[in-house]
Amino acid sequence: MGSKVAVFGSFFVDLMARTPHFPIAGETVKGNMFKMGPGGKGFNQCVAAHKAGADVTMITKMGKDDFANVALNIMKELNMPQDYIFTTDTTSTGIALILVNDETGQNEIVIVPGACNQITSDDTDSVEELIKECEYVLLQLEVNQDANERIVDIATKNNVKVILNTAPYSTITDEFLSKAYMVTPNEVEAEQLTGIKVDSLEAAKACAKVFKDKGVEVVVITLGGRGVFISCGDREEIIPAFRVNAIDTTGAGDAFNGGLLAALSKGSDIWEAARFANGLAALSVQKMGATLSMPTLEEIEEFLANH
Ligand code: ADP
Repeated sequence: MGSKVAVFGSFFVDLMARTPHFPIAGETVKGNMFKMGPGGKGFNQCVAAHKAGADVTMITKMGKDDFANVALNIMKELNMPQDYIFTTDTTSTGIALILVNDETGQNEIVIVPGACNQITSDDTDSVEELIKECEYVLLQLEVNQDANERIVDIATKNNVKVILNTAPYSTITDEFLSKAYMVTPNEVEAEQLTGIKVDSLEAAKACAKVFKDKGVEVVVITLGGRGVFISCGDREEIIPAFRVNAIDTTGAGDAFNGGLLAALSKGSDIWEAARFANGLAALSVQKMGATLSMPTLEEIEEFLANH
């Protein structure tokens, strides 16, 4: 099955409504469609890794409310371990309110991280037992950053490799960055973090050098439909994406990160892992939604065998 791994990060419930136009202040608009479903980068990445066959444990926090069940029911259905879901009754489960404009396809989003913004040191202290047993821990920037910093400290203290998906972009310290074994920004985040626009292979190399000079060992920059640039040791290359008919690229980065984690946990080197992750992400962008569009290991293997 591979080594044990963990994902530390967010769970949100996405509440999506389609509207003929965005309401202006004070206006009420009658929308024509509503959908509720699981989301949050941490959760999406963990579901992707789990379905891809990883022995992965989700670490997150929820309110004691009905929204928590959106995650818990899926985890039960998929047989995912629930031992590290922290709860609080002082705030709600994180949510994202998403308005999609029917005319333009544009969206407006308000997120309320709720419980995922209140992960305490008692919570993080209690995951040391789990993290110690892991080969990798994957995290993002969607929960309170002091909790991320404590998790990274626990991981590095126990020689557990940290994979940092720098999404959504927010400022991080060089000290925090230096503790990451691997970073996985998309092009936009890579530019925001280094000041270098990733518009050529040379620029990608220069960007990777900035991360490496700060202490990161492996740099993985996702390039959307073009694939992924990887800098590992002396080898620096783009592994192209699979050509597919993308209908919803929401969560492509989450699919990719989950796939990377799963493949690395099973002993793949970074190059093989990137191909696997590209395959997982290519399957996910052909379906609507993020969490629920993650493919199974069987589907990924079949896709890779045919491409
Ligand atoms: P994010 O969703 O974080 O912006 P990217 O857009 O860079 O991330 O996409 C992440 C990965 O998803 C890519 O490296 C690629 O493997 C896959 N991907 C994204 N868009 C497409 C696409 N149109 N066709 C095939 N694969 C895609």
